[in-house]
Amino acid sequence: MSPDPLKPGAIIGILGGGQLGRMIALAAARLGLRSHIYCPDAQSPAFDVAYAHTIAAYDDEAALAAFAEAVDVVTYEFENVPARTAEIIAARAPLFPDARALATSQDRIVEKSFLRDAGVAVAPFAAVDIPDDLAAAMAITGLPAILKTRRFGYDGKGQRKVDTPSELAAALAELGGRDCILEGLVPFVMEVSAIVVRAQSGDCHVYDIGENVHVHHILKETRVPAAISEATNAAAKVLARRIADELGYVGVLGVEMFVVRDATGERLLVNELAPRVHNSGHWTEDGAVTSQFENHARAIAGWPIGSVRTIAPTRMDNLIGFEADAWEKILSDPTARLHLYGKSEARAGRKMGHVNYVSLPDHK
Ligand code: AMP
Repeated sequence: MSPDPLKPGAIIGILGGGQLGRMIALAAARLGLRSHIYCPDAQSPAFDVAYAHTIAAYDDEAALAAFAEAVDVVTYEFENVPARTAEIIAARAPLFPDARALATSQDRIVEKSFLRDAGVAVAPFAAVDIPDDLAAAMAITGLPAILKTRRFGYDGKGQRKVDTPSELAAALAELGGRDCILEGLVPFVMEVSAIVVRAQSGDCHVYDIGENVHVHHILKETRVPAAISEATNAAAKVLARRIADELGYVGVLGVEMFVVRDATGERLLVNELAPRVHNSGHWTEDGAVTSQFENHARAIAGWPIGSVRTIAPTRMDNLIGFEADAWEKILSDPTARLHLYGKSEARAGRKMGHVNYVSLPDHK
């Protein structure tokens, strides 16, 4: 049963103090909702914009319990929230998205099996729990393939592309020799994502599909609309909605997909679920009627979802590492909508901010 809708002034608890938590807190504040951030890192970017914060470890049961008692609802900004942490919270406060969404997205085998059972196309895959599983897995996926750790992979970490059986054996050893998934290599022409938001009432909306460009496995750019057919755009939205409905999901969910083109046209394969606001949805802050952050806050508060309509074609550029040092140059373009995360120190590969360009003439 859904809790009663929160009232303005209520407190949203957010596990994780990075930029995603910061942007949820900013959007929530505009709605008169206060945020309490829980993060072990004393330098968390979200602390700057929050009503309250707790600095404690994710396995500090007393601190978690006190945090959950102090807030009206809890959400999170990263999918690797430990199961025990979620359990402690959920015993004391509503947790959205719920433990099932976390469990489904934390383990690539559980995730891919869930998708397949929901009738969603995925790459051929097989579990590799021990080295003896390799031959059978290869028979399912063929080569080339990608070997990934089942858990805790992100931004291309914990995965290896392999072309031969001996490379596969070596890759498994490098990844710890166990608990992996082997996936057939998808010959995609484009990576896209659907950002879907589902309310406690079950009302569900999907933003226009974004086209994503990665550099060194890190998202560099999202363009909306994606350069895909109308039919594929619509099909991606149907898939995203089906996944959110199947999970009984509440909040914003990112669905990463591959677009494959062949003689028969375009096909979609789902790669990964992110049970949280997603980097490829940052364009919605300026390019959509209601941002993903506001809609996430609305959904977990038990409020109605705001329109997900695109205002105009938008491009989001991530500012990675030292790129954010060019903030003055970026601002010299008056159409640039700059978002900086307030991180004290730039490091290679670290996401420092992003810029949205709405309806620029050079947008393709
Ligand atoms: P992931 O950690 O699953 O999001 O994968 C990171 C990136 O690796 C994706 O964005 C793709 O560019 C690439 N990738 C992952 N899985 C596959 C696959 N089965 N076939 C082709 N490329 C993949």
